[in-house]
Amino acid sequence: MQAPSHDTPALELALLHRGLGEIAGSTEHCGRCARALLIGERVYEYEDGGLACSLCREREHRTPSLTRTVHTAASGHSIRVLDRRPRKRSV
Ligand SMILES: [Zn+2]
Repeated sequence: MQAPSHDTPALELALLHRGLGEIAGSTEHCGRCARALLIGERVYEYEDGGLACSLCREREHRTPSLTRTVHTAASGHSIRVLDRRPRKRSV
């Protein structure tokens, strides 16, 4: 991705800002350090709905009610290949 310059049209910048805002809005954050949680990272959920990242978990001093892995927004909505039969080769 190329960094925006002074020659970048206003529409292009507006679309870039909107896209970044949508990404930031759909990203989960740690309740203690407010860091955006990374895809594949372990996250700890507490009964009050709070989240803690792996780095902040020890500072919580309470037992999480759930531990899970952070997934992408597309997780569960992407296309799955259900037909696992071997493909026939064309001659
Ligand atoms: Zn944290």
